[in-house]
Amino acid sequence: MNKTIKVLLIEDERKIANFIKRGLNETGFIVDESLTGMEGLEKIQNKEYSLIILDLMLPDLDGFDVCSKIRELDIRYPVLILTARNSTEDKVKGLDMGADDYLTKPFAINELVARVKALLRRGPSVIDNVLKVGDLVLNIKTHEVYRNGKYIELSQKEFVILEYLMLNTGVVLTRSMIEEHAWDYEFDGFSNVVDVYIRLLRKKIDDEYKNKIIKTVRGFGYKIQA
Ligand code: CA
Repeated sequence: MNKTIKVLLIEDERKIANFIKRGLNETGFIVDESLTGMEGLEKIQNKEYSLIILDLMLPDLDGFDVCSKIRELDIRYPVLILTARNSTEDKVKGLDMGADDYLTKPFAINELVARVKALLRRGPSVIDNVLKVGDLVLNIKTHEVYRNGKYIELSQKEFVILEYLMLNTGVVLTRSMIEEHAWDYEFDGFSNVVDVYIRLLRKKIDDEYKNKIIKTVRGFGYKIQA
């Protein structure tokens, strides 16, 4: 599992927090903890995460408020709400506030891990169908890509890979993650098809600019970052 995936856990109950942390650590995720909503919001503004797990009943802010603040900050990675409440109203309210999924306590750690993985596969919530990384703009709906205002023509595979990188901005994607995403069949693990496509993308997107945004992370894979 990818060790660079960081999860922020906002939960005031130590026991539950430890239980979740242990489960996610065993899966290979790095977990940062916050005991209050304010502390959580502060961390979100200073650090890059792949996902947030948010308890609704916090000592300071209501989890709903934390969730809408997260979206106000234009932070798009997934939010999984955790709560003892299980009314449909709460569920709807949470999803309205921008949460991506909902889990009722008590839950089995396996279920939490499965939900987290599913959300990570889905990637961040996308607003207006437009992804931006620095001066690179990709429209999910029209399939148009521009860098610094200049239109870039991509093949279908190049587009799919670039979109996947941009949906996971700042997150390292391994070659096998990219392969699994862009092709429906399993590769033998020795194929260098991903490297070939990254080279093609770099030629179109990075070559003529000083600021290279497709980065190689030695020993892991690739990421995109302005
Ligand atoms: Ca709580």
